[in-house]
Amino acid sequence: MVNTSMYDLGAKRSCIRELFEYGRQRAALVGKENIFDYSLGNPSIPAPAQVNQTIIDVLSEMDSLQVHGYTSATGDFTARSAIAQDLNRRFSAGVRPEDLFIGCGAAPELVSVIRALAVENAEFISIAPYFPEYKPFVESCGGIFRVVPADVPGFQIDFAALASTLSKNTQAVILNSPNNPAGTVYREETLKKLADLLTEKSRQVGHPIYIIADEPYRELVYDGVTVPFVPNLYPNTIVCYSYSKSLSLPGERIGYVYVPQQAADHDALYAAICGAARAGGHVCAPSLWQQVIARCTELRPNLAAYEENRQLLWQGLKSFGYEMAQPDGAFYLFVKAPNGSAKAFSDLAKQLDVLVVPGDDFGCPEYFRLCYCVSRDCIVRSLPLFEKLYETAKKAR
Ligand code: PLP
Repeated sequence: MVNTSMYDLGAKRSCIRELFEYGRQRAALVGKENIFDYSLGNPSIPAPAQVNQTIIDVLSEMDSLQVHGYTSATGDFTARSAIAQDLNRRFSAGVRPEDLFIGCGAAPELVSVIRALAVENAEFISIAPYFPEYKPFVESCGGIFRVVPADVPGFQIDFAALASTLSKNTQAVILNSPNNPAGTVYREETLKKLADLLTEKSRQVGHPIYIIADEPYRELVYDGVTVPFVPNLYPNTIVCYSYSKSLSLPGERIGYVYVPQQAADHDALYAAICGAARAGGHVCAPSLWQQVIARCTELRPNLAAYEENRQLLWQGLKSFGYEMAQPDGAFYLFVKAPNGSAKAFSDLAKQLDVLVVPGDDFGCPEYFRLCYCVSRDCIVRSLPLFEKLYETAKKAR
């Protein structure tokens, strides 16, 4: 006998994985170059050369037993100090090493934070469009998953809808900026308004409502857009960071949780996150990677290839008539389906071997997502197909 909810999660592939697998099968039949696969958010820029050199340096300079041994459960102190210093340099945030928990990427970090806050009847609010894994993360921790509909077409926050979703049981609002799938960045004025609303609501309900800031795309922004550091605007923010996208290291599983010392119940909160990580068997992140990160905190990605792809795709799609969210960050375009249904559009596109993810699982069934971590050639050769799809879909409306 197995747990049926876990069985369902394991047996049913996500829509993104389904498309990705379909693409691989088609590629075997018609050739990889003839599949225009915009499905999966796997970085297409290699990790900076300095990361690879640092691995070699760490291995040659440090004692093997130490490099490959267990670190403290919350992460190596040197690594936490280096991350704290970097955050303080950039955001004057007053981060201490003891406010950081080094984790195995944003996904397990989010689960630990959610589990730490999952008291009886706890509700967690996501703002559409949202990363689909939030739902199983929340529900597997016993929490109730609530969604605030998307604020279209600007993709900031619909405050009236959020205000009516907040309740005495709300424990946290999960924020993701730069956003997957929309590529949008929440502006400072949006975040200030959010901070005011949550401060007032926390006062009314008599307990803090936290923001969980999921930030794997923090450094992936274009055109000089800045990503405000949310804890500086709302101290009851817990940051879940990851190097998966910013340093193109998604398979290495490394990131951190930051609990600001000004956050309400800081010590209990931090301890509960450590406890949740312990209960989930998620402690002592890869030791070699902790040492590498400690020496690479100042590295930033070279976004030239993403920037070029973003411009090319955005300009092309716009010229055909597609409407899109403002793509300020991450590596996604979120496009309105010209026929009104992203699922139907995705099926139509599949017939031309163009793989796009319908927004249903992101909470926006009228939009589809394009991940532009692809080759330039893929974009150039698929643009005429998008033009054709636009005309066909428009007629089907
Ligand atoms: N959060 C968002 C919004 C993501 O897009 C992803 C991965 O795509 C994650 C979290 C998980 O990232 P990680 O690889 O660090 O677990």
